Amino acid sequence: MTQVTIPGERTTEDDVLPTSAHMPTEVELLRRAGVVVAETIFPDAERVDREGTFPWAGLRALADAGLGGLPLPRELGGQATRTRIYAETVAAVAAACGSTSTVFMTQLHCAHPIHVAGTPTQQERWIPALCAAEAVGAIALTEPDAGSDVASMRTTAKRDGDAWVINGSKIFISNGDVADVVVLFASADLARGKDGITAFLVPTSEVDGFEAGRPMKKLGQKGASTVALSFEDCRLPADALLGEVGQGYRLLLESVKTSRISAAAQGVGMAEGALTDTTSYCADRGLLSARNRGAQDLQFALARLRAEVQAGRALLTSACDLVDADAAEAAAAVSMAKLHCTSLGVRVADECLELLGPDADRADLGVERRLRDAKLTEIYDGTNQVQSMLIARDMRLALER
Ligand SMILES: Cc1cc2nc3c(=O)[nH]c(=O)nc-3n(C[C@H](O)[C@H](O)[C@H](O)COP(=O)(O)OP(=O)(O)OC[C@H]3O[C@@H](n4cnc5c(N)ncnc54)[C@H](O)[C@@H]3O)c2cc1C
Repeated sequence: MTQVTIPGERTTEDDVLPTSAHMPTEVELLRRAGVVVAETIFPDAERVDREGTFPWAGLRALADAGLGGLPLPRELGGQATRTRIYAETVAAVAAACGSTSTVFMTQLHCAHPIHVAGTPTQQERWIPALCAAEAVGAIALTEPDAGSDVASMRTTAKRDGDAWVINGSKIFISNGDVADVVVLFASADLARGKDGITAFLVPTSEVDGFEAGRPMKKLGQKGASTVALSFEDCRLPADALLGEVGQGYRLLLESVKTSRISAAAQGVGMAEGALTDTTSYCADRGLLSARNRGAQDLQFALARLRAEVQAGRALLTSACDLVDADAAEAAAAVSMAKLHCTSLGVRVADECLELLGPDADRADLGVERRLRDAKLTEIYDGTNQVQSMLIARDMRLALER
């Protein structure tokens, strides 16, 4: 029943950056995203959720359409698009299938820090493979006692001759069980707190002392695996260092701009997916007819939700543009987009379920799936309480400027 929106339809030709003749325009990339979503991702979404299977077909179809690593440079396998094009693509995927959107965006969350801090050798080895989905990536920060409070990180990295020896554990790592490469944050000096945090590249099949746990049973996004990782005297070669010793926290701050944009885009997409399915359901029952005066409350509720989704999309797009402009206010704008758009996803899906009455309980309609999927976006990439703290801190700093 879902009518998948082709996102390219929202972007006009006037809004397109010039590209060389053989390179796809941003409109073309968005059109391709719409096709992959309609033909491959949406038809499989209910099964992926029900069986909790990793959405390989969707991930590969997105990569085959040239949509992997959209904002990354072309010479590394990306498409050098603006961030808003990446966000619209994530939203389109998330509208259909939350699991696939998380797996897809985690590829960029892994590739982005390698692009920012990696050596040419590291970049050439991993980024094109991640863009093409020939390699799967993960990014590992959270620990049993450290996530929001990064400085409490207890995973250690000790230099031993030519190697780095890693000990510790990570939890809730997306793609962690299938990853070929993990961007790992560990402390090279516990006494220095944040300033000891250092990033590494872990080529998972080439190292001893690394183990990934079994995928957790989850509330939502059940096809996107979330696992614990353990490191026991895991020796990494010296060239596994990503960036400089002690620069991991700065890299993390840069990385979360991208991952929070992704979460915000998922919020917009999941809201849109829930609303589209609910609108179709109501239309099928004649509830959208102008002659059906008895359904006016319902029509007005749908109209309000549509306006709210559109407002969320505008906030997201403006945050993307500030990131691309490297504006001073970008970090706060991203936090606001993450806070607002992920809450929007939960609220719109919840209100849509209310409108469905007892049919809210029907898994085949897909709306309850959007609510379960959306709830997780409020939690990861910095909880919404943490985003509120960051926004409040920015307001204090603005008064002092
Ligand atoms: C589906 C899923 C996928 C994930 N994928 C990844 C991944 O790929 N890589 C990765 O590294 N991590 C990942 N995570 C982890 C996630 O990013 C963290 O769990 C999240 O950021 C919260 O951090 P925490 O676990 O330390 O929670 P805590 O900080 O312990 O939070 C617990 C509660 O306390 C609140 N809280 C914490 N500090 C404050 C404060 N100062 N003031 C007010 N309230 C506060 C939080 O908002 C939350 O409600 C994933 C999590 C989930 C659920």
